[in-house]
Amino acid sequence: MEVDAPHPRVLSSAKLVDLKDKVLCELGLSAGHTERDTRAPRALPAPDPARPSVPRRRAIRRAARPGPQPGQDSERVDVVVIGGGPGGASAATVLADNGLRVLVLEREPFPRYHVGESLLPALWELWDRLGVTEQIEAAGFAVKQGIRFGMFRDPEEVVLLTAECPAYFPRSYTYHVDRARFDAVLLDNARQKGAEVREGWTVADVAMRDGWVTGVLAGPNGAAPRRIAADLVIDATGRDCLIARKMGWRRPDPALNKVAHFTQFAGGDPRDVGSLIPTADRIPATTTTEIHTTEGGWVWYIPLRGETVSVGVVLDAHYAGKLAGDPEAVFERALSGCPKVRAWLHGARQTMPVQTVSGISYINDSFVGNGFVLVGDASMFVDPIFSAGVTLAIRGGVYAADCILDAFQHRDFSAARLRPYESRIRQPMDRIFQMIRHWYAILEGGNADNMIRRAREIPWLRERLIVLLSGGYEKMDLESFLLSVKAAS
Ligand SMILES: Cc1cc2nc3c(=O)[nH]c(=O)nc-3n(C[C@H](O)[C@H](O)[C@H](O)COP(=O)(O)OP(=O)(O)OC[C@H]3O[C@@H](n4cnc5c(N)ncnc54)[C@H](O)[C@@H]3O)c2cc1C
Repeated sequence: MEVDAPHPRVLSSAKLVDLKDKVLCELGLSAGHTERDTRAPRALPAPDPARPSVPRRRAIRRAARPGPQPGQDSERVDVVVIGGGPGGASAATVLADNGLRVLVLEREPFPRYHVGESLLPALWELWDRLGVTEQIEAAGFAVKQGIRFGMFRDPEEVVLLTAECPAYFPRSYTYHVDRARFDAVLLDNARQKGAEVREGWTVADVAMRDGWVTGVLAGPNGAAPRRIAADLVIDATGRDCLIARKMGWRRPDPALNKVAHFTQFAGGDPRDVGSLIPTADRIPATTTTEIHTTEGGWVWYIPLRGETVSVGVVLDAHYAGKLAGDPEAVFERALSGCPKVRAWLHGARQTMPVQTVSGISYINDSFVGNGFVLVGDASMFVDPIFSAGVTLAIRGGVYAADCILDAFQHRDFSAARLRPYESRIRQPMDRIFQMIRHWYAILEGGNADNMIRRAREIPWLRERLIVLLSGGYEKMDLESFLLSVKAAS
């Protein structure tokens, strides 16, 4: 065999380390957990913008371990993903597309209901990366072109359209989705890219050895869990936060102690915004996400496909505690504090019982550990006000996958190797977190002269707000935005 390598004395050279990997792999002795800490660290390669090249997929595949051996009682895969929501499905798609053996374990049979219907235009770039844009477009979801705010009973509403800032996003619209179908489209895409998906499977716990996560204990719902070994486990269990709870990392934010009550209706006012949008930008049957303040919090009104409308109230927990009654009664009382939205529901039929999520906001101490990463709501969730949850979960899934591919190339699954994922996703998360704090400062101060109202008159403030509210957290400097808010006051 001819070897194009530097002098053998340069033992830490990247070429020799790669060569050693290849030889070990061909002998069926690919480097395992014991070698994790012995490798010389190398630079993180730039993430692949599109589908990986065939040689790169082969290289990653070669770096993965051999499959299950005959006679072994437990399964072994490269990556187990716990949870098939947007975060888990996105990570699984990128990893399987790069040739890794990926197993997604999802407790619920899909399609299943989930709250979180309003998406952001920043998702187009991520959908392209996942190769799912065509399927999303074909699904027939309601078009969303922006947000409409109603602040403190001011009769003049503020409409912010992504089309006003066309330079920032591939398309100036997005969708209001029925999450049952949207999440199923993403999970099917992960299957098509090569991930194995088992619905109706619950992960009871993660398997650990010497402080490393080495797999999961899982089985079909109702059956005894068994061990499935993996080099890396992704916790994408949403608000269940399986690993963060086990580690004691989950920290609720007492300053943002909110409770949400929500349901769906058939037959509400479609809130036609066509006349507010310049003809050139107008898309037939278009909608905006409606956000309206009410006593103790705010109300969302999201027209979905057909005549379905999602309606929810997000209240300060202390205020909600004073509204006596069951969730239906609290929802009704909070809604009657916003007569405008109540009127849009006149004659509409409620189609499901009111659901409640309390203690909405939490942040976990860390998003990575030895042998695992946390993605989407399993890493943190702050508040639904700016509809960032799904966008951040998908972004987190893609960023985590980029970092995990690097970990497989180096056969190093340590927290240190996985940390760049955490740094990368914390930046947009921190930005939306600051905006959310700003929003509640406005609500708590009852300040009618606020940034949203001022965005009606001040073009540069308006542009910055639209880009941020469309999900362009990395396209707009939040600090300069907050400075402009200050300057305009
Ligand atoms: C009141 C409210 C309103 C919201 N509104 C919006 C909105 O308008 N727009 C928006 O973008 N976001 C919104 N969000 C946030 C959004 O719903 C979440 O951020 C998003 O669903 C996160 O995706 P995920 O994949 O991380 O988790 P999820 O979508 O929750 O998926 C997690 C999956 O893991 C599965 N699972 C859990 N535990 C296990 C286990 N042990 N074994 C196997 N499977 C398991 C679950 O069945 C689930 O399917 C809202 C959130 C709340 C609370």
